[in-house]
Amino acid sequence: MPLAMTRRQWLLSTGTAAAGLTLRPFLRDGVVKGSSPTVSGDGVVRAKLDNNENPYGPSERARRAIVEALNEGCRYPGPQWKELEEMIAKKEGVSPDHVLLGSGSSEILRMAAMAYGPQGGELLTAYPTYEGLENAARTVGGYVHRVPLDKNMAHDLDEMDRRTTQAVRLVFVCNPNNPTGTIIPADRLRAFCREVSRRTVVFVDEAYYEYVEAPEYGSMIDLVREGHNVIVSRTFSKIHGLAGLRIGYAFARPDIVARLRQFRTTYSINVLGVRAALASYQDVEFQAFSRRKNAEGREALYRLLETLGYRYVPSHTNFVFFHLKHELQPFRELMQKQGILVARLFPPYTDWCRVSIGTPEEMRAFAEALRDFTLQQKAAARK
Ligand code: PLP
Repeated sequence: MPLAMTRRQWLLSTGTAAAGLTLRPFLRDGVVKGSSPTVSGDGVVRAKLDNNENPYGPSERARRAIVEALNEGCRYPGPQWKELEEMIAKKEGVSPDHVLLGSGSSEILRMAAMAYGPQGGELLTAYPTYEGLENAARTVGGYVHRVPLDKNMAHDLDEMDRRTTQAVRLVFVCNPNNPTGTIIPADRLRAFCREVSRRTVVFVDEAYYEYVEAPEYGSMIDLVREGHNVIVSRTFSKIHGLAGLRIGYAFARPDIVARLRQFRTTYSINVLGVRAALASYQDVEFQAFSRRKNAEGREALYRLLETLGYRYVPSHTNFVFFHLKHELQPFRELMQKQGILVARLFPPYTDWCRVSIGTPEEMRAFAEALRDFTLQQKAAARK
């Protein structure tokens, strides 16, 4: 920055001022607001409830950080990564060499698939669960053992333990689980991880960690601190509302971090995302706000489902899995015609639907459409 200029003068004379011009339609009170997408390739979207995003993000602090970071956009990323790694490490009480960043936690899952899946590498997951690891493993010739969820749609840890043979190179546990929203109590999962990580690596996906308020829930990061064969992943895509900026991270022993890092795409983590993540990570008010809005929306959704007679799995996340009692695919198409997006199919639960918690406006659109659908089903059943 030229010495005689204030930071503000400098920003105005550079790319940020130009960016300000293009951002102006969204500017209110000097801050960028209301960026939730309203149009997809298929037409107008009134309620985007398919991908478990946080419709309130990015936070105002993150938005400001993004605008300021535009000046760094002409440089390759890298120096900023260290800042974020250090901040995360400090908060979680580990050294920075225990932290691995990725372009979303999807990249961390892909790195794990590439490290442990090639040439028929055997991995083990619950079923259904988040499919990022399985999809990536398949591309490198990995084989995935699927252990069905139990009758409460939660992980069957006894069966997962039993099926973890010496040949299994990695066990994936999604806690809370996507698509069911269930959690495994910390004591139970800790005992499982301690036992199974003697045989193989245990990967615990905590993408929805910040949403969980149940006292029996807890992170497995203490096992990383103790030096076990455990990887814990988190993301800025959910409570931080930064899904489009692609920042995820993981904790593991330094030797595991180094092994995974070999498979990271060069320069994969972008500058704007890292700057937004740095700002958002410290923004506890925004996280509390998002948690509260989500809990309110989820309660309202429970009431709706109860009134209309649908069973649901009590959720610890920003989505709810409910028994539609009707094949999902036609329902999804019907919803889509009304501009309402719900999640894809999760076999074997082909008559269940996963719906994310959106803004009150989005949830009202969904409620209206579900009410109409339910009345139509009832009328058809009477004929
Ligand atoms: N893990 C879980 C459980 C998820 O639900 C998702 C996305 O929905 C991801 C990981 C990937 O998220 P991202 O790559 O945006 O961090």
